[in-house]
Amino acid sequence: MPWTDILNHDAPLERFKRTLQSNRLASTYLFVGPDGIGKRAFALMLAQALLCENVSEPLMPCETCSACQQVIAQTHPDLILISKPADKAFIPLEAFIGDAEHRRQRGLCHDIGLKPYRGGRKIAIIDDADFLNIEGANSLLKTLEEPPPKSLLILLGSSEQKQLSTIVSRSQIVRFEPLTEQHVATVLQGLELETTTSIEELAAASGGSVARAIELSDEEVFQFRSTLRTALASLDPGRDNFGKDILGFVESVGKDTSMRRARLRMVGDFAIHFFEAVMHTAISDGLAKHSTDTEVHNALGRLPEDPQAKAEAVAVAIERTVLMQGQVGYNASPINIILPWLKDLAACLRGQQINVGV
Ligand SMILES: [Zn+2]
Repeated sequence: MPWTDILNHDAPLERFKRTLQSNRLASTYLFVGPDGIGKRAFALMLAQALLCENVSEPLMPCETCSACQQVIAQTHPDLILISKPADKAFIPLEAFIGDAEHRRQRGLCHDIGLKPYRGGRKIAIIDDADFLNIEGANSLLKTLEEPPPKSLLILLGSSEQKQLSTIVSRSQIVRFEPLTEQHVATVLQGLELETTTSIEELAAASGGSVARAIELSDEEVFQFRSTLRTALASLDPGRDNFGKDILGFVESVGKDTSMRRARLRMVGDFAIHFFEAVMHTAISDGLAKHSTDTEVHNALGRLPEDPQAKAEAVAVAIERTVLMQGQVGYNASPINIILPWLKDLAACLRGQQINVGV
């Protein structure tokens, strides 16, 4: 029962079982949900189940045939895996259409159209779809619009809002929920992390993501998250030069640009989780699981009193933060991304209009 290793995603699994039983597998899926919750593991297991040569019931790979072994080793000739290199801001164009000397003779768009070697179908998984730029997405359009027979393309992204509309409109969306705190704690117990923060605290702060919990096991990160929440709860996060503190946190990771960008996106994630907790508590009238969270309550006490205005203010703050994250990677210096963001947050959280258009 290999699926039992994949926690908390019964709903998408049931969906794919029904889809296969009725023979309605689409050619392109976009999996969305926070990083570090098992979307990639799910996609690989789905690929294994579809490529297994000894499958006994739908979506139950045998684990032992050579096709299963090749998928597990990520060497199956009909499985194409693409992700963003750590030192790049986006997935390079050559991953889709080959390098300058092999344009359209290599890369995903070419390979997925080849006859399957052994699996009866070609499956491509694009990890980090958040980092598709317009060039990359455009190169994929023809494949999305005229998918080769028996091909399956799965894109993995952290949220629907971060994907280009040209991709979203051509994909079947499958939503993955964050893990429960209990699931995150269970995974962390097996990892032997070196940290003074307790597993319970890490799981509670993780937003349901194992990857985020591991990042938070760095005490500097954990401490920064607390400071950021206090600043956000004040509804004026830019005061006292907090923008410079954020910059300090971003730069403390070292000189590497891609690591700094990842840090700035992390700042955005922390802010989004905070605003989501505020929203959740506001909607559930304080009875929600965040009701013991002091900073969430501080924010609620300061936001506009009218429930609709309150919800609107927080929704715009989330939208503005997603926009901030989208600006990371386009060569703007971090401080020129951070300061306007903080200024807009202070305005929108007080119920003022801001422009969140592109
Ligand atoms: Zn098998």
